[in-house]
Amino acid sequence: MKTIVVGAGIVGVSVAYSLLRRGHDVALVEAEDVAAGTTSTSYAWINSHKKHPKSYHALNYEGLKHWTHVVSAQHPETVMLHGHVEFAVEQEHRSTLEQRVERLQSLDYAARWITPAEAAERTPVHIPQDALVALFPWEGHAYPQLLAASRVAEMRRSPGFSLIIDPVVSVSRTEGKVSLLSGTELRGDVVVLAVGNSTTELAAEAGVRLPMVPKEVGGAAFGYLAYVRAPGHSLQGPITSDHLNFRPNGDDGLILQALDLDPTANPALVPEPQIGEELLRRLHALLPSAEAQLEEVRVGYRVIPGDGLTVAGPATGEPENRLWIAVTHSGVVLGPWLGEALAEEISTGQQNPLFEEFRPTRFASAEQLPAYAAPRKPGDQ
Ligand SMILES: Cc1cc2nc3c(=O)[nH]c(=O)nc-3n(C[C@H](O)[C@H](O)[C@H](O)COP(=O)(O)OP(=O)(O)OC[C@H]3O[C@@H](n4cnc5c(N)ncnc54)[C@H](O)[C@@H]3O)c2cc1C
Repeated sequence: MKTIVVGAGIVGVSVAYSLLRRGHDVALVEAEDVAAGTTSTSYAWINSHKKHPKSYHALNYEGLKHWTHVVSAQHPETVMLHGHVEFAVEQEHRSTLEQRVERLQSLDYAARWITPAEAAERTPVHIPQDALVALFPWEGHAYPQLLAASRVAEMRRSPGFSLIIDPVVSVSRTEGKVSLLSGTELRGDVVVLAVGNSTTELAAEAGVRLPMVPKEVGGAAFGYLAYVRAPGHSLQGPITSDHLNFRPNGDDGLILQALDLDPTANPALVPEPQIGEELLRRLHALLPSAEAQLEEVRVGYRVIPGDGLTVAGPATGEPENRLWIAVTHSGVVLGPWLGEALAEEISTGQQNPLFEEFRPTRFASAEQLPAYAAPRKPGDQ
């Protein structure tokens, strides 16, 4: 088959990679650069932690297993799965953490209580003696830009692959046709749209309704991430506390996030200096030994379909439909596995039962969607 994948973020690169591995020709078309979109500004916590409903947990669990068993074997430099430690001091956080651990244990997901003394052996973080501490040993963090770049470099060695940097301006649902800004037209047997936050507009070009959460300051879409230099920090994996999430960004760096600060995150503005100062202040209280220096605060733009859940599959149920859509929050957890699962469906025509509740067609009616809650609490993302 001749296939066209639009969008070279972690999702599009993963779909392209898996299609190519199955022997199809692949043209990967990207507007800017590989991993230039949300994939470049992500917390990239690998988990299936607070994923509701259970069918969505099942998808994320597949994503987690795929990183653990497949990606980490092929590209060990792109993922660190040394466990996630979460500790709660404040009452509200203690009770939500208890509920989460109980639910995850009931789903046979690795989650257990550890003492602050055990935690001190695992992490340099200052954890109060009266804290409630949980360990999620399967979890960790990834470097999705690195994985996307490695996989594109590998694909480029294949004669069946081409990378085209040229924005797509329209897509046909039934002709396998894609029109580029330069005026070029591409044709394939199948087109896969993996354009993250451009999905609504490009899908509409093909007559398909696919709402995303509103692009509103104070809503779910925007969030700060602070990039900090902290040489020799010795942190192994993500930490979640009452008011700060942080995780390693290589041996000398950290990425910080405080969800309660996100209501002012606005991609049109440079973040106020107080945001970086506050994030550093919170880090210093938990990691006093680190000589942390703020490098940059960025505003990330989450890719969240209107109901918060993954979208994967044919754009419509029509027999002549040739357009597929892949768009999801938690795209780092899900991307590599989603690529495999979608490529398998496209190749064989056999439907994956795990996708039953995640088809694009659920948005076909113009029904009003309930507002999607912004991530503001520990364990959210
Ligand atoms: C603050 C924050 C924290 C996050 N934390 C996590 C986390 O802990 N774990 C997790 O799994 N996920 C997390 N995410 C989400 C995750 O990063 C995204 O789900 C994922 O990166 C989406 O990848 P994507 O490939 O779908 O989109 P993108 O990376 O945005 O890729 C889409 C690509 O399509 C291209 N494109 C757009 N329009 C066109 C066009 N017309 N023609 C051609 N190309 C086009 C873009 O240039 C872009 O390269 C977080 C996101 C944010 C912002």
